[in-house]
Amino acid sequence: MADTLTIAVSKGRIFKDALPLLAATGVVPQDDPATSRKLILDTNVAAIKLVLIRASDVPTYVAYGAADVGIAGKDVLMEYEGNGIYEPLDLNIARCRLMLAGPPRARTADTRLRIATKYVHTTRRYFAEQGKQVEIIKLYGSMELAPLVKLADLIVDLVDTGNTLRANGLEPLEHIADISSRLIVNKASMKMKHGVVKSFVQRMGEAVQHGQA
Ligand code: AMP
Repeated sequence: MADTLTIAVSKGRIFKDALPLLAATGVVPQDDPATSRKLILDTNVAAIKLVLIRASDVPTYVAYGAADVGIAGKDVLMEYEGNGIYEPLDLNIARCRLMLAGPPRARTADTRLRIATKYVHTTRRYFAEQGKQVEIIKLYGSMELAPLVKLADLIVDLVDTGNTLRANGLEPLEHIADISSRLIVNKASMKMKHGVVKSFVQRMGEAVQHGQA
């Protein structure tokens, strides 16, 4: 239906930070994902629904049109290799940095460093741009553990306050990218549901400008 809008968003930090922006556009979810197990949330607007999915799945749902729009971290978008999405708006929420990190005085110039990360493509690109070949070990979480048990020399991970690195005796070494959440849009929805999508993007843009997050 041309006037319905499905919004893909992940639970946790991004959902929490997106709520004030959504509220400023007049959209309020009817359930709290912290207490509800529902994966599709109704909102106060009958034609607008939220689907709750893993952060790294948000681009896939939007690219395939299972959701018209989505809210995804730039880290996830840099890692996503598919097509079919526009990225019209920086929401300026869930801000952090993607960093290379490791033990103090870690080796960074060796010919073949081992890097543990869940950001395999982004990490490979980062080192390739410097002409460095590295061995990348894909992990799904707790990257900070890898150098401590000698699984890897260094890690590439998101850093906010730096507390997690410090607590594990690691330090930030190189800044790879500034990260924030972006609004993404399915290319077909942008055409077929132009009115509702364009108006949503516009209202979200106004909410960001007025500092609702
Ligand atoms: P911190 O200890 O504040 O530096 O936060 C680092 C931990 O939180 C790491 O495990 C990161 O993967 C995670 N983290 C930090 N910022 C974000 C973010 N914006 N989105 C998702 N995870 C984050």
